[in-house]
Amino acid sequence: MSIVAVGTIGYDTVETQHGSVAAALGGSVSYFALAARFFAPVSIVAAVGTDFRAEDVRLFADRGIDLRGMVRREGPTFRWHGRYHEDMNIRDTISLALNVFADFMPNLLPDQHRADYVFLANISPDLQRHVLDQVASPKVVAADTMNHWIANDRAALVRLLPRIDILTLNDEEARMLSGEHNLVKAGRAIIKMGPDTVLVKRGEYGVLQFSKDAMFAVPAYPLEEVIDPTGAGDTFAGAFMGYIARKGVINEAVLRTAVVYGCVLGSFVVEQFSVKRIAALTWEEIEVRYRAFIELTDSHHSRWTSQ
Ligand code: AMP
Repeated sequence: MSIVAVGTIGYDTVETQHGSVAAALGGSVSYFALAARFFAPVSIVAAVGTDFRAEDVRLFADRGIDLRGMVRREGPTFRWHGRYHEDMNIRDTISLALNVFADFMPNLLPDQHRADYVFLANISPDLQRHVLDQVASPKVVAADTMNHWIANDRAALVRLLPRIDILTLNDEEARMLSGEHNLVKAGRAIIKMGPDTVLVKRGEYGVLQFSKDAMFAVPAYPLEEVIDPTGAGDTFAGAFMGYIARKGVINEAVLRTAVVYGCVLGSFVVEQFSVKRIAALTWEEIEVRYRAFIELTDSHHSRWTSQ
């Protein structure tokens, strides 16, 4: 079953301890779609400018991503410049230009109105609501958010939460939104604000999943070298939502496997700058790392217990 995803497509300048890239393809929904495509058909809703490169259109199209909802507007494409600290869980935004995204209020296509799975990437809560209002009866709505909206548009975000089934956010954002420093208390407090499931992303420490009566924790897949963490959260969300859409049902077992696939795809995207790794990735590589991940976290894995 297909997913409609709204968010930014942009050009990123990124600096890490391993080097830098300028004006490389990025944006929340780019990462999301490039991950989700392995599991379910995905349809992007976004705006790009007149400078958006033909090769980047091809990159999505060649991978089966539906671009009918990607509007080309007069003006420059969304741009973000980020710089990571040596501790890659910390990054500074050097500049951010919404450009053609500034007053973007998309009208979904007729078939998108009937979407079963909706992902509202990190954009203003008003734009998230505007998109959600157009979907007649979604089965599952997932959303991401960030500190900027929690600080500056809290009321709109809080109004949206009861309409969200799954919320993803990082640890600092969970603390900000809930007012609780302890992450277990924060997760539980956010569940009371509306979503059935809350996923707290903790960078290299992994993911904590909260639902009404369960809690699930997985580590990030340990890597010797992280080149560029940009997009890890959106890639996680893409694989997570993709897996749920492929299964067509939500229960605790499906959610847990979805979290593991999210971590697996997130572990690939950080191996190279921009979307390079996730664009070149194959399903065989995903399967190999999925098995490695299970072995990593399973204390009763048959490889050891059968000895
Ligand atoms: P992540 O590392 O998962 O937070 O995603 C980073 C991506 O989000 C980058 O490719 C940026 O282009 C995009 N991004 C950064 N800041 C914003 C923002 N304020 N609103 C929307 N997208 C953003």
